[in-house]
Amino acid sequence: MERNNYNSTSSATHLPVPDIHILTSGGLRIPAHSGVLAKASPVLENIIERPRKHRSSERVIPILGVPCDAVSAFVDYLYSSRCEEEQLAKYGIHLLALSHVYLVPMLKHRCSKGVAQRLTAEDAVDVLQLARLCDAPDLHLKCMKHIAAHFKSIEQTEAWSFMQDNDPWLELEILQFIDEAETRKKRMRRHRKEQSLYLQLSEAMECLQHICTEGCTTVGPYDLKPAKKPGPCNNYATCHGVQLLVKHFALCKRRVNGGGCSRCKRMWQLLRLHSSICDQPDSCRVPLCRQFKVKAQQQKMGDDAKWKVLVKKVLSAKAISSLAIPKRKREDEPRETMGTHQFLKTFRLC
Ligand SMILES: [Zn+2]
Ligand SMILES: [Zn+2]
Ligand SMILES: [Zn+2]
Repeated sequence: MERNNYNSTSSATHLPVPDIHILTSGGLRIPAHSGVLAKASPVLENIIERPRKHRSSERVIPILGVPCDAVSAFVDYLYSSRCEEEQLAKYGIHLLALSHVYLVPMLKHRCSKGVAQRLTAEDAVDVLQLARLCDAPDLHLKCMKHIAAHFKSIEQTEAWSFMQDNDPWLELEILQFIDEAETRKKRMRRHRKEQSLYLQLSEAMECLQHICTEGCTTVGPYDLKPAKKPGPCNNYATCHGVQLLVKHFALCKRRVNGGGCSRCKRMWQLLRLHSSICDQPDSCRVPLCRQFKVKAQQQKMGDDAKWKVLVKKVLSAKAISSLAIPKRKREDEPRETMGTHQFLKTFRLC
């Protein structure tokens, strides 16, 4: 069998007569040009430049152990630096092995990506082993992730049983990876949950300021008239809840500073938190803002490590959210500050 690819193709019209043949396992002889092969692969270059016993003898390079068509696709690539998706889909793993053995990095990169995209439960374990043999770290990692994500079905495959019997170290490596991936996932989930909590607090802080400065549907500064058409707040999802909390705090019979009922306690914490992060206490219209600041200085409330951490986290959540959400305009008129006893007078509650 002989294939005559590189005599008359348009890209190779000016090439001389082929001076070498590549022999495949199926007995296919692919005529080629030693100059082209040597330029594309340093390994082939070495083979080509190796001294021969008889100068006149025909030059043949065997590339065995992979399907004939995969070798053809490989030689095609050496000539054109191109590889069809269809060939990649069919012979991706063979081309990966060939590009590794013959040191063709661009093709190797392409195969590594292509094979990773086509991973299945059936071949993931085999591809993982190939990736290790071919020193393809990206593909190796993708295989590990794929196996971790589809472990239930991969455990049922023949490739998995075979690997268990023949390469227990690899099995251990995979199980360890899955274990670490689980831990990572749990840590991420916990982190995300915490972040959303701090973000909620930070939003509640902004909302509190919005209610105390410009007023909203049912609560606002005593000297500001309510909007003509009070509808639900468009600015903050939490606005209604914070308004209810403010109303409760203003009217609750069990309210005592820092204590009393649980809702009052929450409002108290919100006010204290606001004061901790407020950078304009002199013009701030949020009740008790300045009082908390003064108290913190007098009693060194700031030494409370846990509270400090909370403030820091809310601030960082605020910083993160301000990158994503456009900042709202705020009126910052100077205002006199108010004492606890004035709290009821502070708000219009309707
Ligand atoms: Zn509102
Ligand atoms: Zn209460
Ligand atoms: Zn303030």
